[in-house]
Amino acid sequence: MKNITVVEPLFVSAFQCIGSECRDHCCKGWNINLDKPTVNRYLKSSQIEIKTLAVENIDITRKSYASWGTMKLTASGNCAFMDESRLCKVHASLGASALSNTCATYPRKSRIFKTEQQKTLMISCPEAARQLLTSPDAMLFEETIKPQAETFKAKNLDQQKKLLNLMCLNIVKVSAEKLDEGFYALTSFLLGAERISPEKDWLEQMERHFSAVLDSLAQGHIRQQLDQVKPDHNLQWSLLMRLQGWFGGMTHKRAFPTLYHYLNKLIYIQTEGAKTDHVSQPMIRLDTVWQKQVMPWLAERPWIMNNYIQYRIYEDFFPNDESRSPLMSLYLLTAEWFLLKSLIAATVELVGTIDEEDIINIIYSFHSITKHNPESVMAFVAEINKVKVNDDLSLIYLLK
Ligand code: SF4
Repeated sequence: MKNITVVEPLFVSAFQCIGSECRDHCCKGWNINLDKPTVNRYLKSSQIEIKTLAVENIDITRKSYASWGTMKLTASGNCAFMDESRLCKVHASLGASALSNTCATYPRKSRIFKTEQQKTLMISCPEAARQLLTSPDAMLFEETIKPQAETFKAKNLDQQKKLLNLMCLNIVKVSAEKLDEGFYALTSFLLGAERISPEKDWLEQMERHFSAVLDSLAQGHIRQQLDQVKPDHNLQWSLLMRLQGWFGGMTHKRAFPTLYHYLNKLIYIQTEGAKTDHVSQPMIRLDTVWQKQVMPWLAERPWIMNNYIQYRIYEDFFPNDESRSPLMSLYLLTAEWFLLKSLIAATVELVGTIDEEDIINIIYSFHSITKHNPESVMAFVAEINKVKVNDDLSLIYLLK
């Protein structure tokens, strides 16, 4: 037997689908791919209703074993197997074991290494987002050892990369609700890490550097440095305008109506600002409401957005994406954070208040549209990249 390390944040082990109680169930509005055995099981089912629905509603695509067919959606965008009570007919008549792999596992997923499994949830599921954002302990990690016959057929986990990821998680965690300081500290950490040679004394030097960054945060030096930075309102404005345009092409996606409820407030504030012929005015307006109203609200529940950024660091195995540099990964994450902040601030500015339900709605709908599959992630990243004028360090101008 081989020992496998299983890593799981608390909100992942606590998750349970709430079925018909869900505010925006997952059986609609996006492609539901069925694997080959599932397609055959449904087409040959002895349950006449399942068989008939399958014959009429499965498009046989034969793209791959895992994607042998796609469910056609009804006129209201629902999966044809969903009944009037928003429950799955396959689950009801054939049991959970008859579900396709996609339907049986969503929103659960794992990152697999040879001897380690890192479990997570896709927070395009509103219940997963709720568990993450509302529980102070959601991002506490459980680690267990599970014996199994063979190791996974996957590459070894690079321990230097794992340590980098854990250090970034810690920097974010100690910054609590002051995530602007957390992002600035991450910038400082990654710039220093770049200068440390990967061979000699790497661990010792990294630990020293990591402690120095944590000290700078605790002593207020990071805050002082951040206070010296002048915001770049043109960059902020251009980023928001470009992303608004991009979301305009996503109206058919699941959760778009939810996101649009918040996005239209941001659009309104930017449109008002455009009348003054000065892009700074709406950016200052959003920052003022963020500092005066949102930050005091967050200070009473510091885990809510902190858990989200910790989740992103864990989920993305930040900053180890092999397709881009660590600073580029940080730029992209900061840009997404800036958009989410702006959506929250615009809501408070126009509605007067915000509550946890709004934050859950913003986060799950944002993920539903931008993180549904690798293609949507790439498309969104490409859009953010179009705005970058200087190098990746221009991210600090999004922190003010
Ligand atoms: S979105 Fe999440 S909670 Fe809602 S039905 Fe799907 S798995 Fe269940």
